[in-house]
Amino acid sequence: MRPHYNKVSPALLTELGAAIGEENVFTSPAALERYKTDEEADERCFAVPEAVVRPGSAQEIAAVVKLCNKYLVPITVRGGGTGLNDGAIAQEGGIVLLTERLDKILELNKEGLYLAAEAGARTLDIQNRAKEAGLLYAGDPCSAESCLIGGNLATNAGGNKAVRYGVTRHQVYGLEMVTPTGEIVTLGGPLKKCSTGYCLEQLAIGSEGTLGIITKVILKLLPLPPYKADVLAVFTEPLAAIGLVAAVNKADLAPTSLEYMDNPNVQSTAEFLHFKDVPRKEDGIYVIITLETFDEDELDRKIEQLSELCEKAGAVDVLEADERIWAMRRNCLESVRLVSKVCTTDDVVVPVDELSGMVSFVIATVAKYPFPLRINAHIGDGNIHIVLCKMELSDEEWEDNLRRFAEEVYTYAYAHGGRLAGEHGIGSKKAAVLAKFTPPGELDLMRKLKRAFDPNWILNPGKVLLLEDE
Ligand SMILES: Cc1cc2nc3c(=O)[nH]c(=O)nc-3n(C[C@H](O)[C@H](O)[C@H](O)COP(=O)(O)OP(=O)(O)OC[C@H]3O[C@@H](n4cnc5c(N)ncnc54)[C@H](O)[C@@H]3O)c2cc1C
Repeated sequence: MRPHYNKVSPALLTELGAAIGEENVFTSPAALERYKTDEEADERCFAVPEAVVRPGSAQEIAAVVKLCNKYLVPITVRGGGTGLNDGAIAQEGGIVLLTERLDKILELNKEGLYLAAEAGARTLDIQNRAKEAGLLYAGDPCSAESCLIGGNLATNAGGNKAVRYGVTRHQVYGLEMVTPTGEIVTLGGPLKKCSTGYCLEQLAIGSEGTLGIITKVILKLLPLPPYKADVLAVFTEPLAAIGLVAAVNKADLAPTSLEYMDNPNVQSTAEFLHFKDVPRKEDGIYVIITLETFDEDELDRKIEQLSELCEKAGAVDVLEADERIWAMRRNCLESVRLVSKVCTTDDVVVPVDELSGMVSFVIATVAKYPFPLRINAHIGDGNIHIVLCKMELSDEEWEDNLRRFAEEVYTYAYAHGGRLAGEHGIGSKKAAVLAKFTPPGELDLMRKLKRAFDPNWILNPGKVLLLEDE
């Protein structure tokens, strides 16, 4: 049975205004309209919330959550709104809760090597603050300019440095969150190790706002390697490019990044950014490899070794990657909109040794479908983004083809040890396929957890887990 929700009432609005200030409660049509979508461009998925709130502290968030439990009104949490699976859209109505006022970087501890920040701090600002202190915050999603750190934890974001340093969950020592019933809890702390009961902070990470609202984070910092080289290996065959991954891993080069862009991505990002003379624009497939070391000679040796491996793998050019190449990689998604306003970015992840098979399967399979394909990938992590464009297809044709294509791809991925999402999460877009592809025991545990944390099913309903099954 679906949980029961009420509409936002004047009484609730009055109590919200008293709790967080009337100026932080929005109900005008123009204000609500702004939050009807996140990165989603398909209007059929938009949902205008009934109210938007902008609390300024964990205490105020806790007050909002308590009121929403009292009135049985759902809350959808929003960070930077850059999520790719409709996670910040209030599809069940109710309230959108903005975290943007919690934007302070609270402490950078050079001796303890950690940084504490509020959840609404921008990821790029955290990276820059660490860099100014000669340190590294290793979380690095391509959206760092516009996403917020709380959103990164909520989705367990990956990004460009995960191949060496891991994903967001590997950068987090602790966090503060407001539970779905409105208590403020501190989970974990700035500890290098901890074996003290259940590891609840890790449970909150990746829970996409369904188990709590993250209000503060304590992040790991690392020494910043002073020597760095970005190498661009240009290929003309996708499988040759992917073959480089195993060679690099075996050579123990420990790259910081190992990124892939197919030729449609190379072309459209070059056009999007007005770069006229990038290498092999007409047929090149790019693999970008970043090496970082603490020793200059070591870097030189690694560059030489890497160049040899690239040539052996079939690269037609091995060059220094200038800033334009990284700008292109960061704009893969944005540039797709030049081709098609509505598109989808899938995010399957497979064991790295299954990556060539997965990419071959995707390329062969898409040939049966009416949409153009482009692939960008964090190939070092086995994580590929399959971007499909709606173009001129009708809504029905798009839906039907997309569903059948995704079914084929996920079936292949699961048969080869893969999963639906490497870093973008599930949101509402993939909740049905999560229910279908997750082993029943695992899915049952997820539902039990959600019920235990959120008895009224107030937080982000319809995200990760289907409401219909409740
Ligand atoms: C151009 C572009 C490039 C991208 N590149 C990458 C990439 O390289 N790697 C990657 O992993 N992702 C990438 N993404 C996806 C997206 O940026 C990430 O998922 C990011 O972590 C979302 O953060 P956000 O602040 O925008 O969150 P939102 O989009 O606002 O929210 C995402 C989800 O988290 C929940 N949430 C947000 N804040 C909180 C909070 N404080 N507490 C609890 N729940 C919360 C929301 O309810 C929602 O379910 C990219 C997106 C774009 C548009």
